[in-house]
Amino acid sequence: MMAASSGSLADLIDAALPQTQCGRCGFEGCRPYAESLARGESPINRCPPGGRPVIERLSALLAVPQLPLDTSCGIEQPPRVARVVEADCIGCAKCIDACPTDAIVGARKWMHTVVQADCSGCELCLPACPVDCIAMDPAPGLPAAPLDGPALEQRARHFRRLHEGRLQRLARNERRRREALQSRLDAAHTGGGGPA
Ligand code: SF4
Ligand code: SF4
Ligand code: SF4
Repeated sequence: MMAASSGSLADLIDAALPQTQCGRCGFEGCRPYAESLARGESPINRCPPGGRPVIERLSALLAVPQLPLDTSCGIEQPPRVARVVEADCIGCAKCIDACPTDAIVGARKWMHTVVQADCSGCELCLPACPVDCIAMDPAPGLPAAPLDGPALEQRARHFRRLHEGRLQRLARNERRRREALQSRLDAAHTGGGGPA
C-alpha cells in the first residue's frame, strides 16, 4: 500500500532518477516517468542510465520486487560525454536546442563545444547534428564502469540544477517573445504612430 500522496511519491521517485532527461524510458524526461511510476503504470526497470542502483532504489520506494533492466530501453554503461569534432562543425546551433543541461556552448555560425562537466551523456545532441560531428567519449575522471548509487545521485543533483536553469531560461525567452508580439499588436491597433 502507498502511504504517500501520488504528488509527493512522484517527487521521491523523481529524486531517485538520474536526471539526464534522455528519454530512453519511453517518456519525455525523468519527471513524466516518475509520475507514471507513482501511478503504478510503469515497471521500475526502464532507466538504463540509472541501471541496477536505480532499480534497487525504486524497488525499495515502491515496495515492489526488483527486475532486470529492460534492455529494450538500452543497456547499463560507463558514463560518457559528448565531444564536438570541431573541424566539421558548421555552427548551426541545433545541438544547443537539443541539450537538456545547456552543456553546449557556441554562437550561430561559430564552432560549438561541450562543457564536459555539464554533459550527462544523454546523446540527445547526436541526432540533432546535421553533419554527424558529435562523438561520445568516456567521461574523464569517472570510472570505466556503470556508476554506483552515490555517484549517480551526486551527478543527478548537478544535472537537475542545470535542467531547471534551462527551463527557466526558455520560459523567460518565451515570455519576452510574447510581450514583444503583444506590443507590436497594440501598436498596430492604435495606429502605431504611422501617417494619418
Ligand atoms: S535518465 Fe532514466 S528516467 Fe530519466 S529520462 Fe533517461 S531513462 Fe528516463
Ligand atoms: S552535450 Fe549532448 S550528450 Fe551531453 S548533455 Fe548535452 S545533449 Fe546530452
Ligand atoms: S549541431 Fe553539429 S554542426 Fe550544428 S553546431 Fe552542433 S555540433 Fe556543430
